[in-house]
Amino acid sequence: MKDNKSEIGNRKSKIKKIDHIGIVVKDIRRVIAIYNSSFGMEGGEIEDIPSYGVKVAHLSAGDSSIELIEPVSPSTGISRFLEKRGEGIHHISFEVDDIQSSLSILKKWGIKSIDKVPRKGSGNTLVTFLDPKGTNGVLIELLQHIS
Ligand code: ZN
Repeated sequence: MKDNKSEIGNRKSKIKKIDHIGIVVKDIRRVIAIYNSSFGMEGGEIEDIPSYGVKVAHLSAGDSSIELIEPVSPSTGISRFLEKRGEGIHHISFEVDDIQSSLSILKKWGIKSIDKVPRKGSGNTLVTFLDPKGTNGVLIELLQHIS
């Protein structure tokens, strides 16, 4: 890693904040009701994300946010996750200024993206997932707000 470091210099993929934590669920409507009533979290509007074959809903508490994800298409990574591992925490989403620039920096550190190109995420965002082999088994989503 020392050689890599000198080659990259001080370039880092600067993370602005943790945007949200993604949780895979079987029945998004039921879970939204639980988060709204039991935890008093706000939001929960359901949005279809065809690029990933899922429905998502964001719930917030202050600056923090949870993303509930229900797979709607059988052949997606998220539906396989639900089949194999059941409901639970799926990913952590880091907000960055520029996904492409972050990806090119991370690539030099041996951290690759799963997606060939970043995809349209929920709301006005562009997202991509990093290969967990390079991130200690954690599925990390990079998220960029676009206007
Ligand atoms: Zn996410």
